[in-house]
Amino acid sequence: MNNQPLRQDNLSIRKPEIQVNNKLIQQRPFDKKEAIVNTRREAFDKAMLAICSRPAESGGLLLGEIGSSDISDFFFDSGGNFSSASYSPDHLTLNRKMKEEWMPAGIDMKGFVHSHPGRLDVLTDEDLMYIERLLKANPDMSMFVAPIIIPPEFRMHMMVVYRDNPGVFVEARINFY
Ligand SMILES: [Zn+2]
Repeated sequence: MNNQPLRQDNLSIRKPEIQVNNKLIQQRPFDKKEAIVNTRREAFDKAMLAICSRPAESGGLLLGEIGSSDISDFFFDSGGNFSSASYSPDHLTLNRKMKEEWMPAGIDMKGFVHSHPGRLDVLTDEDLMYIERLLKANPDMSMFVAPIIIPPEFRMHMMVVYRDNPGVFVEARINFY
């Protein structure tokens, strides 16, 4: 466990709030009985190629259309810090791109994908704490998509964390489109 105090402002990726008719846009409700994450094949391939070709604890952002929970694109976080035991995103670059590129193009963050060393294909306590902070910083997100990649096996284990049950990950299935 990480004993350092939480530094939310330092670590969070925050989407600028989007107001339509003075109402915050909510993501489409996600069917919990069927934990399925609709994913564009090209976005999946892009993430696998980028992350599997690098050392463990690399990662990037999963992106998709605002108002949808589908994953349509991936952005590799080349400025992330991979030297420590856990993945630490380049929040400055990601926040800037979110504000200047993605949100104006109708795209926002659906989650994060990162790799683990060895065969550890589940989210760690630190991962779950970080995801909880991101959900707090982004009130429009009803769930956070957080798959783990195991590079030597060229495998992605899909998981999601729901806002109303933070601290717990739920297994999910990828449905390609
Ligand atoms: Zn992790």
